[in-house]
Amino acid sequence: MTDCVFCKIVDGELPSRDVYEDRSVLAFLDANPLAPGHTLVIPKEHAAKLEDVVEAPAVWDVTRKLAPEVAEAVDAPAYNVGVNNGSAAGQEVPHVHMHIVPRFPDDGGNPIHAVQPNPPELSDDDLDGIAEKIRRTRDEAAADD
Ligand code: AMP
Ligand code: ZN
Repeated sequence: MTDCVFCKIVDGELPSRDVYEDRSVLAFLDANPLAPGHTLVIPKEHAAKLEDVVEAPAVWDVTRKLAPEVAEAVDAPAYNVGVNNGSAAGQEVPHVHMHIVPRFPDDGGNPIHAVQPNPPELSDDDLDGIAEKIRRTRDEAAADD
């Protein structure tokens, strides 16, 4: 996609600090890192969201292997892996990317749960209904395949 920042990185039109590359996946340092070693893993194909990625297994496989190597390189004992999927979830670059964020003891950060500081109060009935709705949506999607 011509006006996509990450497609431009893939095409070499914008600079990046690459740490991994293969036929379908590229990983490079985040330009505004939340921690030393903060890395983004992207599919080379343009895909806005997780559900659009054809090479999704490759992206996941690189992420799970690269993340501990990134952490080791910056002496981090832990890391978060996350995706902001869609603008309401905070996605700013509309080319899907896995964040690998190295974490350190007492770094002042939070777990992934901090994405929502005001969680809703849901009853057991609410949760049962939501689970049923998700299962139904999955069944309908499977029937469409
Ligand atoms: P998100 O909010 O999940 O879309 O995050 C986008 C991330 O991309 C941010 O952490 C930015 O710092 C990072 N970013 C944006 N432009 C570049 C770039 N040219 N090179 C590296 N990282 C970038
Ligand atoms: Zn793109």
